[in-house]
Amino acid sequence: MKNIPVKPKTFLTTSPSLPRLPAALLLLSILLQGCLPASASPVQTAVLPLPTPTATLEVILPALEETAPPPESIAPQPISRVLIVTFDGMRPEAIETAEMTNVIALMQSGAYTMSAQTIMPSNTLPAHAAMVTGTCPAKNAVRWNEYVPQNGFALGTDIFDLAHAVGLRTGIVTGKLKLRQLTEPTSTDFFGFVDNTDEDKDRITLENLAVDELKKGFGLALIHFPDGDVVGHKYGWLSKQQLAAYKKNDNDLGLLIKALKNSGYYDGTLFIITSDHGGRNEDPKHGENTPEIMTIPWIISGPQVAPGEIQSPVYIIDTAPTVAFALGLPFQADWDGAPVYEAFGLPADTLRAEGCPRVTPELHTTTYDSP
Ligand SMILES: [Zn+2]
Repeated sequence: MKNIPVKPKTFLTTSPSLPRLPAALLLLSILLQGCLPASASPVQTAVLPLPTPTATLEVILPALEETAPPPESIAPQPISRVLIVTFDGMRPEAIETAEMTNVIALMQSGAYTMSAQTIMPSNTLPAHAAMVTGTCPAKNAVRWNEYVPQNGFALGTDIFDLAHAVGLRTGIVTGKLKLRQLTEPTSTDFFGFVDNTDEDKDRITLENLAVDELKKGFGLALIHFPDGDVVGHKYGWLSKQQLAAYKKNDNDLGLLIKALKNSGYYDGTLFIITSDHGGRNEDPKHGENTPEIMTIPWIISGPQVAPGEIQSPVYIIDTAPTVAFALGLPFQADWDGAPVYEAFGLPADTLRAEGCPRVTPELHTTTYDSP
């Protein structure tokens, strides 16, 4: 990871704090939102394809009363689109410590785990590649972590390929240009890169560019906030500066949610909030195989999600299969990950692979003793 000089005003500006709502009030507002009628969606809709159940639950139901609502009134809302938001380098504990109220609200209304695992090498580009392809680096071949155009794109069929092929509007807005190598340009309808460290481009912020694209409607979008990682490399993981960066990005997430609501795209949106890796306060800050680096939050919230803490293991490579499941896209035989069925109240896939091999790559730090 290249240490990019940080322009303090970009990252350390204190954002206006969100009002601290009591949890009950927060929950009430979430419940009320869930009760709103679905707005007409101009984007293609998909209903979850249910897998063949592997077990039958024995449930004794009470006799239906005459006042029971007709079945159509409890039909699940379809999932119309998926928005993945990644906070670069975010360790799970940062969410509560930085008081990321928008992320916390999605946790409370959705399913989540604070012990999901990323892949080795635990760096930004390989981790995001695993996320969108559903495969380990051994298959998608992305082990590099800089923008190297001659290396091409992640191998295999990723979720942008799948979503774009069925006519969904797809795209990425990122603070790191190397994410261009996640998928071929022909599979994204928009790709926005905002370099927050470049003074000349400060007129366009990442969050504003993301808002502009999301307001146009989409089927699948990935919004990547780089700030926490950039600040973490300079000031340390879980430093007050890094927490301020995550808090600022949480406010940015609030802007995205507000834009979706204002443009009629909130209902039917499935949110996935996660990170690419954690970090620590010794060198290398990440890229290695230690718990504080490998452990990431994974949150899913929206239609058809069964709220609560996810008990089964979740790996970053499960993200693509989960998106495909949610949008009714074709399953891929070469996935190493599996849909997080438990998040939809379904039995977990007990035959799934256990993440990716955690080999520590050679770090080119070998020294040779002089004879
Ligand atoms: Zn990263």
